[in-house]
Amino acid sequence: MNVKTRFPPSPTGFLHVGSLRTALYNFLFAKKNHGTFLVRIEDTDRTRYVEGAVESLIATLDRMGLSYDEGPILVDGVLKEKGENGPYVQSARLPIYLEHTLRLVLQGDAYYCFCTKERLEELRKSQELIKASTKYDRQCLKLTAKEVKARLDAQEQHVIRLKIPDGETTFEDVIRGSVTIQNAQIDDQVLMKADGFPTYHLAMVVDDHLMGVTHVIRGEEWISSVPKHVHLYKAFGFPLPVFAHLPLILNPDKSKLSKRQGDVAVEEYLAKGYLPEALLNFVALLGFNPSAAREMYSLDELTQAFDLSKVNKSGAVFDIVKLNWMNGMYIRSMNIDELMESAKPFCERGVVSDELLKKILVVERERLVTLAEIPERIKPYTQPLSYDLQMLVWKKSTKEDAITQLRGVLELITDLDPEVFHDPVLIESHVKRYIESKGLQNGNVLWPMRVALSGFDKSAGPFQIAWILGKDETLSRLSTAIDKLSS
Ligand code: GLU
Repeated sequence: MNVKTRFPPSPTGFLHVGSLRTALYNFLFAKKNHGTFLVRIEDTDRTRYVEGAVESLIATLDRMGLSYDEGPILVDGVLKEKGENGPYVQSARLPIYLEHTLRLVLQGDAYYCFCTKERLEELRKSQELIKASTKYDRQCLKLTAKEVKARLDAQEQHVIRLKIPDGETTFEDVIRGSVTIQNAQIDDQVLMKADGFPTYHLAMVVDDHLMGVTHVIRGEEWISSVPKHVHLYKAFGFPLPVFAHLPLILNPDKSKLSKRQGDVAVEEYLAKGYLPEALLNFVALLGFNPSAAREMYSLDELTQAFDLSKVNKSGAVFDIVKLNWMNGMYIRSMNIDELMESAKPFCERGVVSDELLKKILVVERERLVTLAEIPERIKPYTQPLSYDLQMLVWKKSTKEDAITQLRGVLELITDLDPEVFHDPVLIESHVKRYIESKGLQNGNVLWPMRVALSGFDKSAGPFQIAWILGKDETLSRLSTAIDKLSS
């Protein structure tokens, strides 16, 4: 079989991290099986339409490296398409949906419904009152063909509903196994709305079939809709695709992942300085883990390892601590020039030279969690320090001792050849040799030296900071600390 998967987001303005995982799994499954991956824009709910959302979605998928074979693309900022099965934006396919819906009406699998919003609201309330399931009561199914024609001729507002047959519906899901639902629980779904737009259910089934989709891989929230879809496939005489419904993504308290407990938009994570590679790796492991002993996977490695049948049934917790850890690991594994390029959009222009930024990143990346922290990490190297003098005093030592040790280091560094400052290891060997020759304790010397250079009680090591600052600035910061302590 020629595998074809799809990712059909609704353009609501951002890409949810759960949708990122769905897109990724569809991408991985298609690639693993040498198949095709398509993207389709599901914009039939006009009340939720957001201007610019399609462009933003395409740009985000591109930044995440999830390339697709068919779908809408941006060429110099203009929306175009690639692939033979378009249009890939549902609002451009309205005649196709109308034609298909009318076919169902002719077959007796769908019917016109003229009920008003008010009547449906009344019906819902009365059903709720007796705790019955809220469903359409099929009043309009009783209309004769003549009555329907008269009301259509009078241009009465209407929708078209799917007629769900009696009995039960069973379907197979790769992740969930066999699922059976009593048809009595299923509403006569609206297929065509009063505004002439199809509902998601109709448009999705028609498009997946016409576009040749073989595997429907999507979030678990859609599993309860599958029986409706199965009836549609059957009514149209379309073969069923393979279904795979992915487990929910949960907050740490096991509730469904929500904005209330943290960010859910991929764009937010990117803006906060999470790397696309880290985000992909992280979401990939929400529901699928090729090996308990390993966490880091590139997109290629994920493709090799991906196995739809090994996706977990149970919900996966979105653990931000793990994402932070992973992002740090990716930052540290990047080549320094790549890191520079990724860091630049986060830095204010003109604050640091490329040379200085590079040195800062070489040192500071050891402790970075996100790229957005970089401006804060740059500040101590580019601005005068302000710190509590007491911080310069090492543990049980004294202010006087701190002055003595700082003076000693200042003298030593004054005499050092500037060449030494080309390498933090050389600076270290000179300072350490001095400490040894004087019979001093490391802490007594290195603690005040590090605080005098960094202004913080926790920071990179003193030799690395001195290397970034250079000889002159190192001397200047040591003297400032001595002056402050002595006054
Ligand atoms: N448009 C739906 C969504 O945004 C797609 C659901 C599906 O994959 O069938 O979630």
